Amino acid sequence: MARNPRYDILFEPVKIGPVTARNRFYAVPHAAGMTNAMPRMRAAFRETKAEGGWGVVCTGYVSIHPSSDDAPLPFATLWDEDDVRSHALMTEAVHRHGALAGIELWHGGGSVMNRTTRTPPLSPSGTAWMATHVNFMGNQRPKMMDVDDIRELLAWQAEAARKARRAGFDIVYVYAGMGYLPYEFLLPEWNHRTDAYGGSVANRVRIVRELLEVTREAVAGQCAVALRISLEELRARPSERAESEAHEVVALLAEVPDLWDVKLDSSPTDCAPSRFAAEGSHEPIIDFVKKVTRKPVVGVGRFTSPDAMVGQIRRGVLDLIGAARPSIADPFLPRKIDEGREQDIRECIGCNICISSWHDSVPVRCTQNPTIGEEWRRGWHPERIAPAASSGSVLIVGAGPAGLECALALGRRGYDVSVAEAEEEIGGRLRFETRLPGLASWGRVLDWRRGQLERLSNVAIYRGNLLTASEILELGNTHVVIATGARWARLLYSPLEVPAGRLEGPHVFTPDDIAAGARPDAPVVIYDFDNYYMGSVLAEHLARSVTGVSYVTPAGHASAWAIMSNEQPQIHRALASAGVTLHTLSRVTAFADGELTLAHQFTNAVTRLPCRSLVIIGARFANDALHAELTREPAALAAAGISSVSRIGDALAPGAIVHAVYSGHRFARELDADPASLGHRRDAPLARLS
Ligand code: ADP
Ligand code: SF4
Repeated sequence: MARNPRYDILFEPVKIGPVTARNRFYAVPHAAGMTNAMPRMRAAFRETKAEGGWGVVCTGYVSIHPSSDDAPLPFATLWDEDDVRSHALMTEAVHRHGALAGIELWHGGGSVMNRTTRTPPLSPSGTAWMATHVNFMGNQRPKMMDVDDIRELLAWQAEAARKARRAGFDIVYVYAGMGYLPYEFLLPEWNHRTDAYGGSVANRVRIVRELLEVTREAVAGQCAVALRISLEELRARPSERAESEAHEVVALLAEVPDLWDVKLDSSPTDCAPSRFAAEGSHEPIIDFVKKVTRKPVVGVGRFTSPDAMVGQIRRGVLDLIGAARPSIADPFLPRKIDEGREQDIRECIGCNICISSWHDSVPVRCTQNPTIGEEWRRGWHPERIAPAASSGSVLIVGAGPAGLECALALGRRGYDVSVAEAEEEIGGRLRFETRLPGLASWGRVLDWRRGQLERLSNVAIYRGNLLTASEILELGNTHVVIATGARWARLLYSPLEVPAGRLEGPHVFTPDDIAAGARPDAPVVIYDFDNYYMGSVLAEHLARSVTGVSYVTPAGHASAWAIMSNEQPQIHRALASAGVTLHTLSRVTAFADGELTLAHQFTNAVTRLPCRSLVIIGARFANDALHAELTREPAALAAAGISSVSRIGDALAPGAIVHAVYSGHRFARELDADPASLGHRRDAPLARLS
């Protein structure tokens, strides 16, 4: 199909200093969990984006010197020649597809702990970042930088820029954002200096200017020099010389870099979850930059709609459409627009599972795109899949995320697939969850798969079809895949931190009951030891219809795990504004006569709460009865011509939607595969021991 001429503007080349991007699609620097320890995985992951049509593909954060060590978080390094070779794998891979390669050179300053290198961290005035996020806490405080340290910093940046050039990069960054070293000079909270690097905005900006200058000199006209800068805080500060300090900073540096890469200041606002922020949420902060500089500007905003992208350019907000998450969810997004296939874009749902992989220090995962990070390791490509290795037919029982992903991947391989779904509507857990506050865009998991499946004539979906074991035997498909999901349990929680103690009763509910239409009477207590989104989202949901909702958790925060997905700060704000009362570090020990008994998680001190209805969001168990019944009699299976019965998704091991999609996809990839080819390849660092 031909490209819609409305989107032609997205495919115009953009000159960035001495280099030219072939189009306006810019895969911005983002952490992907693949450090220099996994150079081939990392190269293939970024190569796929280049193949998918991005004009520029960048690295994640790359440390310029051992005094910037973010371990155990997965940062990359450019400290020696092994590192140069390691990054060169990526630049070669990206260049093979006609894209430019950008490198985000980075110094973490007082935001890192140098846990591995054991060098004192550096900061403008010895001020530490003392985060509430446990991943970022530490007990090492930074050294105040003296003039020699500043001189060395400039030398490290210059040396790293020279290495970047040797590694084949086209765009070399100075990174003044997100609490890292140059950003620390920009804000007076960090910077109390009384020398030429502190005080006025012009002084605070000096280090950024000098870093840009030494980078330009080092790349000697071969590479573009980009400045990545966080503008949220600065924009909130009035200036005597401009509308805000952000305006003043951008004006002072306007033509110094070849490219402005503008962003917000903290991960929860910069990479805001869709539960709390819509597409294009950066615009009110960064919209002025293009008015102040003549250089190209790139910014992000979880853009998946080509119309929104065109709007950003036509309205003079951005020159290049930056993307981290949309390029993870669909590395082929630009190509699909180019080929007039925008309806095929696998749109990011804004769940931030990808971010959680960085916090977990593992290669990136994505709810929408199960192939991300697996390009080299498992040989998975987001758009290509091996043809069927046999003519067998497959019956999938259950049309939730796992069943649908499995059906799609098997259908694309050419298998004859039938999907039986008990309900009239497909989607499994998404049927209910996407109706909960803030989760509508998660419906893209279902919408995209439904749209793609409709085009496959070899996949049939039977709705309103609750299958029993005997019916499955009668159908006699070659392979049976059980994707029947999981159910929430009415279990409490023991001091050993395991679910224990069944609590039945007419006023005890689980999310399954609420999904089925139960309406708990007030006062309602949500008891959450699942720790992800369901507890807080149900509290918000119920608070819309009843007055008197409390939230109890043995953890220290509401939705404690959601700190990993950048959602936790906003979850607390949402619960507060919904009038939900919070009781943290509390275990439910009894529920009777309209009263709930709580024990403090650590001291066991007892408190009591009025409660008519208790909603327990804790353990989940697989719906595996069908699997157990079918596999009990191998002879009956053989007689029916069924050669395999398998489980996928929550029916195998309950988890987040990302795991269900991955499980369904993996099953489809591996069906009929040679067992010797299964598993994954191990990557290894390119390191010469001296
Ligand atoms: P997952 O996340 O693993 O995909 P879900 O719980 O989202 O799991 O989806 C499971 C789906 O399976 C639900 O839509 C449910 O209605 C369906 N299902 C469960 N048991 C049967 C059955 N015996 N026959 C057909 N569909 C079933
Ligand atoms: Fe988007 Fe979620 Fe995938 Fe991240 S994990 S790219 S937020 S769909």
